[in-house]
Amino acid sequence: MELKTIGIVGAGTMGNGIAQAFAVSGFDVILTDISEAAVQKGVATISGSLDRLIKKEKMTAGQKAAALAKIQTATDVAALKGVDLIIEAATENFELKTKIFKQLDELAKPEAIIASNTSSISITKLAATTKRPAQVIGMHFFNPVPMMALVEVIRGLQTSDATYAAVETLSKAVGKTPVEVKNSPGFVVNRLLCPMINEAIFALGEGLADAAAIDDAMKLGCNHPIGPLALCDMIGLDVELAVMQVLFEGTKDPKYRPAPLLVEMVEAGYLGRKTGKGFYTY
Ligand code: NAD
Repeated sequence: MELKTIGIVGAGTMGNGIAQAFAVSGFDVILTDISEAAVQKGVATISGSLDRLIKKEKMTAGQKAAALAKIQTATDVAALKGVDLIIEAATENFELKTKIFKQLDELAKPEAIIASNTSSISITKLAATTKRPAQVIGMHFFNPVPMMALVEVIRGLQTSDATYAAVETLSKAVGKTPVEVKNSPGFVVNRLLCPMINEAIFALGEGLADAAAIDDAMKLGCNHPIGPLALCDMIGLDVELAVMQVLFEGTKDPKYRPAPLLVEMVEAGYLGRKTGKGFYTY
């Protein structure tokens, strides 16, 4: 099945980035959120992002206008009843996503595929809340979506080969590199990245080295573009902790236990760049 029209639920950081990526690639997009203000904020973010591309001479004003013309907006998900693929990118909350999936399952056309951009919720579990589990899949994009090449395409236990193939083809058509991943806590990127950051926090907590030394070691010894602690400050210590909790709870494997220093810093409100203080002060 060729997926031509794309509906997006949630116009926040990820939703508007996904809308931009599809619109720039020439797809018709309907971007939805719960309020007109949220939708308009999403569109304004896209417009600003395209302006920066024009400034860098990577896009013309005409191409920007053409991309924006591809995006319709709505505050009622009923607007998505005719689309081929719906990508849910609403707030990370299981009850909320379950409610949205049930609603989408009722209104979407029978052959439509429903994808979630969730970072941590089981695709198998979301699929099971619908009457079309074979047509449910994960599309885990990375922030900022227009810049980041990867999409983890997550197969739930019930996801059909046809659904996977259609989403894989579409991911390539929007300029991304899909990797096929089984449904499992953290998928691939967070499963590998977050324990590495967590281990750096253990090392800091044990006094193995100070923050700058740990970051320098990984930058200069492993050619990482940024050290794990500086990266954690960018991601947000609360987000890092949430991922570690998902890995720990999802596997019950003690190797994923969150570093005590991470837990305590989140308790203190030291969440990284967004609060001005994390492993470094901003
Ligand atoms: P965000 O808070 O920026 O945006 C979420 C949007 O969802 C908000 O605009 C909110 O109004 C909207 N929303 C809430 N309830 C809704 C409903 N019932 N119907 C429609 N819209 C609703 O969050 P985000 O960072 O864009 O994250 C969205 C999803 O993407 C989450 O599942 C998150 O785990 C995942 N994700 C985030 C990142 C990241 O780096 N931010 C990366 C990969 C995946």
